[in-house]
Amino acid sequence: MIRFEQVSKRYPGGHEALVQLSFELADGEMAFVTGHSGAGKSTLLKLIALLERPSQGEIVIDGQRLSRLHRRNIPKLRRGIGMVFQDHHLLMDRSVYANVELPLLIGAVPPAERARRVRAALEKVGLLDYERQLPGSLSAGEQQRVGIARAIVARPALLIADEPTGNLDPQLAVEIMQLFAEFQDVGTTVLIASHDLPLIKRMKRRVVVLDHGRLIADVAAAEVQ
Ligand code: ADP
Ligand code: ADP
Repeated sequence: MIRFEQVSKRYPGGHEALVQLSFELADGEMAFVTGHSGAGKSTLLKLIALLERPSQGEIVIDGQRLSRLHRRNIPKLRRGIGMVFQDHHLLMDRSVYANVELPLLIGAVPPAERARRVRAALEKVGLLDYERQLPGSLSAGEQQRVGIARAIVARPALLIADEPTGNLDPQLAVEIMQLFAEFQDVGTTVLIASHDLPLIKRMKRRVVVLDHGRLIADVAAAEVQ
């Protein structure tokens, strides 16, 4: 699903955020990217989402070499990727329903099908009863669930999350991670950046460790302890 081939990223200003990074994530796999603050976790996810471009190397997503991807095909590729952020980026003046519906408004999904999918996504994250509310009236964990519903409503093959539990207490964080695992169970490829090692260990999934932009460990799920 994802392949990095000797990928380096240097931001304007000269800092090298990723250094010759190579790794693969298989279809349907769920993995964590961890490392200290500034290790390059966010940069890695942004490169996958085409929010940043590599300075060197190649990224292949679903057989598509990103360096050869025409500009007009970028939106299509992005629609196949669900993104979850630490601070969820919800529109606070729109209902929960409207927030989750947003990604479907860009595509050509008919209204009846849109409604069905929004409700299916809200049901999946346990928020069907909250569809008319504004996000501000929900707890932090519920808001993050709205963010997740929005990320999966278009049924992306790939779900990426940047510190999705960063603002949550430990119990809620576990629940959110279990939700991601449920998406993996139905075939979604999942990549999560997190620095919460105890939580990562609990999930027993593959862990890729970055340090100053370099891959320093790649621990298989069976070896996580
Ligand atoms: P992490 O997510 O692991 O904290 P980041 O990918 O955010 O790491 O950052 C990696 C390095 O790149 C850091 O040194 C950071 O300061 C730098 N960096 C990140 N984004 C930018 C940017 N837009 N411009 C310049 N430097 C950046
Ligand atoms: P179907 O058309 O197969 O009935 P739905 O839209 O009803 O699909 O979604 C089925 C469930 O799967 C819903 O709970 C939905 O939120 C969830 N889902 C959404 N996106 C994905 C995805 N990328 N992978 C797996 N399940 C997803």
